[in-house]
Amino acid sequence: MPVLVMKFGGTSVANLDRIRRAAKRVGVEVAKGYDVIVIVSAMSGKTNELVGWVEETSPLFDAREYDAVVSSGENVTAGLMALTLQEMDVPARSWQGWQVPLRTTDAHASARIVEIPTENMTAKFGEGMRVAVVAGFQGIAPDGRITTLGRGGSDTTAVAFAAAFGAERCDIYTDVDGVYTTDPRITDKARKLDKIAFEEMLELASLGAKVLQTRSVELAMRYNVRLRVLSSFEEQSDTAGTLVCEEEEIMESKVVAGVAYSRDEAKMTLLSVADRPGIAATIFSSLSEAGVNVDMIVQNISEEGRTDMTFSCPINQVARAEQAMEHSRKAGALNFAELVADKDVAKVSVVGIGMRSHTGVAAKMFQVLSNEGINIKVITTSEIKISVLIDRKYMELAVQALHDAFELDKAA
Ligand code: ADP
Ligand code: ASP
Ligand code: MG
Repeated sequence: MPVLVMKFGGTSVANLDRIRRAAKRVGVEVAKGYDVIVIVSAMSGKTNELVGWVEETSPLFDAREYDAVVSSGENVTAGLMALTLQEMDVPARSWQGWQVPLRTTDAHASARIVEIPTENMTAKFGEGMRVAVVAGFQGIAPDGRITTLGRGGSDTTAVAFAAAFGAERCDIYTDVDGVYTTDPRITDKARKLDKIAFEEMLELASLGAKVLQTRSVELAMRYNVRLRVLSSFEEQSDTAGTLVCEEEEIMESKVVAGVAYSRDEAKMTLLSVADRPGIAATIFSSLSEAGVNVDMIVQNISEEGRTDMTFSCPINQVARAEQAMEHSRKAGALNFAELVADKDVAKVSVVGIGMRSHTGVAAKMFQVLSNEGINIKVITTSEIKISVLIDRKYMELAVQALHDAFELDKAA
């Protein structure tokens, strides 16, 4: 039988009533003749609560135990969803990651999926199971310990299952009815896109648009999974939501497709480091060994052989970064006057494949920010995006002004 993957995010399984509503949608697809793999998130707010408990107990926590705790939210919703389906006379069974087994790397808290063997689940479908309810976000490391896939990881679980089972489609049900030109919570001028190219979605996701986890888009692109984002609160239809697809499938196209932001940034500056070969290598290998995800990097012009090195990283990794730099200093590998952490910054980015062939986007972006009196602290660019780091208090203003200036509220 054809397979369909349906993923329900936190708000779509926030309570028993929502779980029932989601289960009804699953029932409709089962009645059409699909074997359905349902991927569930934890109830909304649950993962944040679990992460909070871990951080309060142990600020520089052991990531294996973090995973043991934060993966538990999904176990609850998987069981409840299976029970709800059974109450509707749909043969359903829950699966935790290790039962599949969904094999991952051992990079705890941000593990990558290595393999999803299909035999066990296929056998159960053969025996009459119609719905496999899989706890999203979790897997099992080579040594048998539980892993998690990074925040928002249930999206990736869903796409990986769709690829492994050759599913006809992977539907991501969430609390918005598709992918918008920017987060609809920031401006009501945000416009829903019927289609978005994989590459644009990939950039938007990696720059903070959390509607899909970056890795899920990467996998969908690589395995050509038909990926759709839609609302679990609205009427169902075959054309609802946003289809993430190949560039060629899209007729309308603008130079800038969307604006993304990330609040969870911190800017770290090492003051007065020696300006000589090997220093950058020392700094960034020590950060990488400590598990710090460095994003933007700027090195100042040097004066008398000393320079300042600035980088950005997720705000919850500041303590780790500080510890890593102190460690290198004590070991004699690095010498600096001070490490200054600025935790009041945000990153705002414009994204569009059209930038490959159009110039002037950066100039326009900087002008718009300047008109609003917003100072730019760090800039990075790639072929299809421009990102700036600014004071967090201007983030919403910047997103709104850029959305207006690039006329994203209007269709192409
Ligand atoms: P779920 O719990 O279903 O996984 P998430 O909270 O992870 O949902 O993602 C959905 C949220 O993503 C929306 O509520 C919205 O605020 C946010 N979002 C950010 N950028 C965008 C965008 N460009 N389009 C749609 N939603 C976006
Ligand atoms: N519950 C996890 C999180 O909040 C995974 C997910 O929902 O995608 O990050
Ligand atoms: Mg999500």
